[in-house]
Amino acid sequence: MRQRDLRHYFLRKRSSMSTPIWDTTLMRRISALDMIYARVERAQSEFRKTAEDKGSPISCPSLCGTCCIHFVPDMTPIEADRLAYYLLTEKQEMIDHFMAHRKEAEVMDSACPFWDIDKPGHNCMIYPARPLICRLFGFCSVLDKCGEPAFALCRQMPDIAGGDKRRFVGVAMMEQQFGAIPPLMVDFSRTVAALDPCDAGERNTIDEALPPALSRVSLVLRLAADSSEDLSALPA
Ligand code: SF4
Ligand code: SF4
Repeated sequence: MRQRDLRHYFLRKRSSMSTPIWDTTLMRRISALDMIYARVERAQSEFRKTAEDKGSPISCPSLCGTCCIHFVPDMTPIEADRLAYYLLTEKQEMIDHFMAHRKEAEVMDSACPFWDIDKPGHNCMIYPARPLICRLFGFCSVLDKCGEPAFALCRQMPDIAGGDKRRFVGVAMMEQQFGAIPPLMVDFSRTVAALDPCDAGERNTIDEALPPALSRVSLVLRLAADSSEDLSALPA
């Protein structure tokens, strides 16, 4: 069954869908991913609060969304499944938008298919299901070549009050400036990769990762809509 047919099939069946979907491997992995996303948010907001208390507040300028321009995020298979589930159950109209964008993208500059140029400050059309890389940007640190944590203010962020430093390397420097180390990207990316043990390390751009995920998740949703049987053995 083609993608479009599957979606229409699911929409017709959605109202009668029973609960077995919640007991599939797919949903358990999506729930685990959501918990990791929530941890990212908590860690970043704790860091920002500590930095503010220390007199070094950092924030994005109002209505900025520059980091999405000419950026195509990548994702693991389970992140693609999470996005596919969001689209199929909450934003079906975005699927046609995505498919149309893929065709245009073959002849145009690369850009994220879900970036809306007309909504400054709310440019992301899939905000609740955006991938990890989009969540980490701006408020996380990386490990440099020597294994030291390093953090740089995004180019769009203003200087920190009373200072002109924009790059911070090492625990001591960060503790002195912010009172804490910005959450390490690698901690979260390793945890997300661990949710895909068979595909560990596999990352594809959103354009490549989403179509197969839409097929996988459509199938699980269709089976769930059709069946009141136990689907917990499904490998999705
Ligand atoms: S991370 Fe940088 S580019 Fe992105 S919204 Fe914040 S300030 Fe703007
Ligand atoms: S998914 Fe959303 S946050 Fe990520 S690049 Fe696209 S528009 Fe920006």
